[in-house]
Amino acid sequence: MDRTRLHHLLARESAEAERRNPRSKAAYDRAEHLFGRVPMTWMNKTAGAFPRYLDSARGARVTDVDGHEYIDFCLGDTGAMAGHSPAVVADAVGRRYAELGGATAMLPTEDAEWVGAELTRRFGLARWSFSLTATDANRWAIRLARAVTGRPKILVNSYCYHGSVDESLIVVGPDGRGTAREGNVGAPCDVTLTSRVAEFNDLDRLERELAHGDVAAVLMEPALTNIGIVLPEAGYLDGVRELTRRYGTLLINDETHTFSAGPGGCTAAWDLEPDLLTIGKAIGGGIPAGAYGLSAELADRLLGRADLDLVDMGGVGGTLAGNALSVAATRATLEHVLTDDAFAGMAKLSERFEAGVRAGIEAHGLPWSVARLGARTEYRFTDPAPRNGTESAAAADAELEDFLHLYLANRGILLTPFHNMALMCPDTTEADVDTHTEVFAAALSELTG
Ligand code: PMP
Repeated sequence: MDRTRLHHLLARESAEAERRNPRSKAAYDRAEHLFGRVPMTWMNKTAGAFPRYLDSARGARVTDVDGHEYIDFCLGDTGAMAGHSPAVVADAVGRRYAELGGATAMLPTEDAEWVGAELTRRFGLARWSFSLTATDANRWAIRLARAVTGRPKILVNSYCYHGSVDESLIVVGPDGRGTAREGNVGAPCDVTLTSRVAEFNDLDRLERELAHGDVAAVLMEPALTNIGIVLPEAGYLDGVRELTRRYGTLLINDETHTFSAGPGGCTAAWDLEPDLLTIGKAIGGGIPAGAYGLSAELADRLLGRADLDLVDMGGVGGTLAGNALSVAATRATLEHVLTDDAFAGMAKLSERFEAGVRAGIEAHGLPWSVARLGARTEYRFTDPAPRNGTESAAAADAELEDFLHLYLANRGILLTPFHNMALMCPDTTEADVDTHTEVFAAALSELTG
């Protein structure tokens, strides 16, 4: 990669973003009462000097306050995998909030059992409980795993992401030992007191760590999705299940992103048998919603424990979790939008997207790779594709990524800010995918001269 050329192109695209988006820039410059000028500090993870401000969004389209329309492959980093504000979810939310009322009445609604049954049909876990975020689903799953096993530690994969869960902010350090992930904000204690870590696709390391006998649960994505997509090698996931059973450790599948693999995520697509499963983001169609599922056996064991306060202040729960609005949105999303048929169409589009990216990479002879997980495709600046999180982290190139994101955004295409991820929703079209293929190829032509 010619870095001088890259710097020049990046500066050119940054200037173009400022020219195209004066209203967004002015709004950002004015936002003095916000911590970091944004409603949430991660919104500063944007290619260019300021974020584009949202005006409206529908289906696979976003419009910014400067009046530009985008084909949205970011889809709220999966939160809008159902497309933005599908009419049937808008109706269900409107009915629950405006007509019936009672979004936070602290009373159950009948929708919840429908959703629980549907999640069981899809993912296989027999009992379900709700949260508002995937982070909380993970936190509570971890607490339940500790309670039921009596063990203190959680094992995760290096460079995983499971939300702002303290236990998960650990990586395999250069010396091979577990160490705090760089930049961890205000860790409550040394992370090695609460956590163990292995590389994805490394069963030997996993076994060594589990052999200590102190790991309550392995919390993992069946494929890593937050450091690029890292797919499991043949036999790896079976090995994880076999080892966790052998060492008395529970297995928690976090399907928040890997839900893209199909209507029941990787768990259904690959016949996995986790003890717990967590999910969030997409299931509420854009309304905050998360959930965790447990096996019937595990649920019974937990409910039978008189010493555990599962009802009041025992550490598992949130006042608005399972609220009528979130549950109504989740029902409408699962029943009518993210259906089995919808996933089939999304996966086909994603295949087309992958083929387009691959063709561009090959035409320009770049040493990059592309991976796909159902409706989600991602490219990485290294070839062959990374086998684990550490390899994938080493292939990061922030400037190159910023250039591609800015180049695409200035031409009406949004990718997920944190990586080169493109997600399909039920409203995405072949023409949308082909537009990306063309613009991506043009970006590569400029890069390679
Ligand atoms: N799990 C996974 C796999 C995720 O990718 C994320 C967020 N990117 C989370 C959990 C946390 O989701 P939330 O921020 O909605 O709590």
